[in-house]
Amino acid sequence: MKKTLILGAGFAGLELATTLSETFGEDANVTLVDSGEAFIFGFAKLDVMFGHATPEAVRLPYAKFAKPGVTFLRETVTAIDPVARRVTTDRGIHEADFLVVALGAEYDFAATPGLVEAGNEFYSVPGATKLRDLLPAFAGGRAIVGVCGAPFKCPPAPSEAALMLHDYFVGRGIRDASEITLVMPFGTPVPPSPDTSAALVAAFAERRIRFVPGRRVASLDGGRRVAILDDGSELPYELFLGVPKHHAPAVVRESGMTEEGWVKVDPRTLATRFPGVFACGDLANTGTPKAGVFAEGAARTVAAAIIAAQRAETSTATYGGAGSCYIEFGAGRIARVDVDFFSGPKPTGTFQEPSTALRAEKQLFGSSRRARWFGL
Ligand SMILES: Cc1cc2nc3c(=O)[nH]c(=O)nc-3n(C[C@H](O)[C@H](O)[C@H](O)COP(=O)(O)OP(=O)(O)OC[C@H]3O[C@@H](n4cnc5c(N)ncnc54)[C@H](O)[C@@H]3O)c2cc1C
Repeated sequence: MKKTLILGAGFAGLELATTLSETFGEDANVTLVDSGEAFIFGFAKLDVMFGHATPEAVRLPYAKFAKPGVTFLRETVTAIDPVARRVTTDRGIHEADFLVVALGAEYDFAATPGLVEAGNEFYSVPGATKLRDLLPAFAGGRAIVGVCGAPFKCPPAPSEAALMLHDYFVGRGIRDASEITLVMPFGTPVPPSPDTSAALVAAFAERRIRFVPGRRVASLDGGRRVAILDDGSELPYELFLGVPKHHAPAVVRESGMTEEGWVKVDPRTLATRFPGVFACGDLANTGTPKAGVFAEGAARTVAAAIIAAQRAETSTATYGGAGSCYIEFGAGRIARVDVDFFSGPKPTGTFQEPSTALRAEKQLFGSSRRARWFGL
């Protein structure tokens, strides 16, 4: 069996390694590399921030990722040569017949002056944990949930954060002493789905959340405690919850695989221009959102291509560009939007109203992956 080297054990890497192991068992000849000690679902960061779960409780340790034919290496990738399919890590050099780059998106904190010094972000575990510790001391005032650049992971997440912040303030009895503003670079909260966007805008209005569409936060002035938007307008704040600008990890940008900041792939096959090299997940420019469910779908297409190649067959699998996202509406209710980016002339989305039944479905989304990947 030829060797497959997967860089990154996130949504994409875990699904790909699992599928190859299921198919070939002990013969799979897969090496999976990640610098981390554990996987954490993106949505768990919202739970951590609002104190619904501890960071320890949401960690899924790679030590539990035991799959026949897959070797997990805890190493940091420091260089990628896509021509030679050779990868350098802090521990050595690895070569492969099939190289899959799935290192996710990295945050560019420096792109937003003042974000780290004068504000907070909730897109990383340390950022969400810091906010969990800060929020109880907030006595009320002007709060901003602000997006600092597009594209960003999980487009509904800033809307969810604003709605959950409302619930949190109500629970603490400080909602009347507070204002909540949501700043987002899109014209609507979830552009492919007008129904989802309309439901979110209505939910914002009911809860007195001010929605500022079509704008991003360019910088924070900590001295004056104002957020400066990309049109130069200013919003004063006492509490800032930010979504940092994203880009492909530096090691990927330095590899020559990126164009305009992201890895160029054939959106249907996830193949790069380098033979035997694929990219999937948040770092690949497929035209679909940066969300786990899309990373996973893309990984399944790459798995089909590698399985076919191992069998000296031609893969006919193509990435469908469709997926379902769950959206926290607050008060324990969750909505769902099924988005499809490739079937029609433009992306479409079908909305399911928030309900407690969808909360159970979201829990199953997480628990089924936890069981499939980690046996937990
Ligand atoms: C607040 C929030 C809420 C979200 N909610 C949802 C949701 O409800 N549904 C959904 O589908 N998605 C959601 N997402 C998005 C989802 O988490 C990501 O889109 C998904 O994890 C992307 O998968 P990936 O495999 O591309 O990258 P990742 O899951 O980010 O994995 C990349 C891996 O690469 C590793 N890595 C990076 N650099 C190196 C290096 N140099 N060396 C070694 N390893 C490295 C990292 O440690 C990481 O484990 C949310 C994200 C956030 C932040």
